[in-house]
Order: sequence, then structure tokens, then C-alpha cells
Amino acid sequence: MSPPHAAFEQGPIRPPSEAQSLLVRVSRNCPWNHCAFCPVYKGRRFSLRSADEVLADLDAMREVYGDRPRTVFLQDANPLLSRTDDLVRVVAGIRERFPRVTRITAYARSHTLARRPLAELQRIRAAGLDRLHLGLESGCDAVLTLVRKGVTRAQQLEGGRRAKAAGFELSEYVMPGLGGRALSAAHADDTAAALVAIQPDFVRLRTTAVHPGTPLAALQARGEFVPLTEVEGAREIRRFLAGLAGVTTRLESDHVLNLLMELRGDLPADQGRLLAVCDRFLALPDHDRVRFMLARRLGWIERLGQLDEPGVRAAVDRVVRTLQERGIDPEEALAELRAGTL
Ligand code: SF4
Repeated sequence: MSPPHAAFEQGPIRPPSEAQSLLVRVSRNCPWNHCAFCPVYKGRRFSLRSADEVLADLDAMREVYGDRPRTVFLQDANPLLSRTDDLVRVVAGIRERFPRVTRITAYARSHTLARRPLAELQRIRAAGLDRLHLGLESGCDAVLTLVRKGVTRAQQLEGGRRAKAAGFELSEYVMPGLGGRALSAAHADDTAAALVAIQPDFVRLRTTAVHPGTPLAALQARGEFVPLTEVEGAREIRRFLAGLAGVTTRLESDHVLNLLMELRGDLPADQGRLLAVCDRFLALPDHDRVRFMLARRLGWIERLGQLDEPGVRAAVDRVVRTLQERGIDPEEALAELRAGTL
């Protein structure tokens, strides 16, 4: 829900699954702010907001939205750094003012969760914070170090397990391609193994894109990070999915950066079907694969089968012809489409 006026404060981002949620800003920006791939809060200082300030925002939101909100998302990157008493007051304040709310969710860092006493997390959970989104990104220490995630694999495991032990629904974000070409296999294997150990309720894919101006772009410029092509990315995801035997979770591909949006299902039951999606993409003849990737990155289609819908193929053929006439390699065009620079 976007604010119709500036009577309250809201932060810049929320997960795709919180598109309909009321956004409540509990903290500003990110306390870590060093992740090499992340363009969101760079140059902005982290601060916590007082419970009184947030409760005043809730009063203003109640004036605007009445009791319509059904889900709420606490911003920004790590509201779990707030004092327990403050967070409990805020969550209880939401429940009081918006009685029809069925779910309250927040981002959190494993680093924070791994250090917070379980009893405090249980108090926050009992007050009514239901779900945490954690940026696992990778379960591989070499990748976490490369992208300066600021947590180790051990802390990622501990943070995830502690969230589960406190009773939260746990959603873990994974970034296919984050290790680049050099660490692709280790990234896939170690990330799958981490998720088997954590057993989150949701795994959400968010494909790595190199945003201009980020430290990851600098790593790429120095040759220390070589991004995966779309095909290499699909191979890595296939390897990752194969490693997920033993996890009971819901896999979601709900981010616009993902190529294969149909990678959604319940594990372990759907593992075979999801692997088959990857295989189907990888088995496409070269010309069809390029057309699918372009149509997908241009936002024209979401699923493999849609390439054969009336008009799609002809429209993509025109794009391919234009690229050929201009001497542009489709893979380069695809990388630029992913980074938002084309
Ligand atoms: S990815 Fe998350 S933790 Fe890392 S800098 Fe961005 S907001 Fe902060």
C-alpha cells in the first residue's frame, strides 16, 4: 500500500510477496550496508525509530486506510535490531489498530538473529510478528566473503534455526549466480545443504544482477567476478534444486530478475517437475532459447510455453533482427536488460 500523502514515513523497498502489505517503517536504511550486490541503501545512515514515533505513524495510517490492511511489512532492512520492548509495542499496536491483519512480516539479518536471546525472539513472536525474510543469499562461505555479506555460513545457519525455534515462519532469499562463474558449483551445493539444515518454510529465488555503481560492478570490472550467462544460471539452479532433496519447503520464483518464473512448487513433492523445467529450458534449440530469454527479459512472457503464443514469436524475431543489424550479441543485450541499463 503506497501512502496517499506524507502523514507517515515509509521506506523504499519490500519483498515482492509484500506488494499488498501496509509498510510500517520501524528502522531506516541498513545497519550493514556493505553487500557488494546491493544498491538500495548505499550512502544512507541507519537509524532506529522510537516506538512512539512508529505508533504515531500507525495512528495516521489508520486514518487513511481504516481497518482495510490485511498484511503488514515492517521496514527497513533489519527492524529486529530494535529493542524487544519497542518491537513488542509496535507489533501489539498494529494488532490493536488493524484487527483484520492476518500476517505481520519483517526483513531480518541472520547476524542479528544469531546473537539475540531466544527468549526475546519468542516474546516478539508472541506479540504477533509472524514471518521473517532472511537474506541467506548463499550458504557458501567463499561467496559470502566475496560479496561482503557480513555473515558466515555458520551464522546463517544459526540465525535461520533460531528464527524457526522462536516459532517464526521463515522465508530465506537465495541469489542464483552470486558466486559468479568461479564459485557457481560451490554456491549451488553449499546453499542447498544450508537450506536442508535450516528447513525454512519458504525459499525465494532472486537472481543476481550487477547493478551499475555497486561494489559488485567494481569486482566485475577488475575481473574478480564473472557473471553467469542465462544458460549457466539455469544450470546452476538445476544443480541447486537437485541438492534440495531432504528439505520440506515452498519454493517461490517471484522476483522479476528471475528467468524461469515457473520454478514454484512444494518440495520435496515437486522436485522432479521443477528439475524438468530447467531441463526443458536447457534443451531448447539455440534460436528458441535466445528468443525465450529476450521475450522474458523484455517482460513479454513469464513461462517457457508462452513463446508459442500468437504474436510473441514474431515480435521477438523483430528484436533479434534489430540486434543482428546493430551487431549486438544477444547475451550482452540480456545482461544489460537484467542490470536495467538497456
Ligand atoms: S542486502 Fe540487505 S543487508 Fe546487505 S546491504 Fe542490502 S539491505 Fe543491507
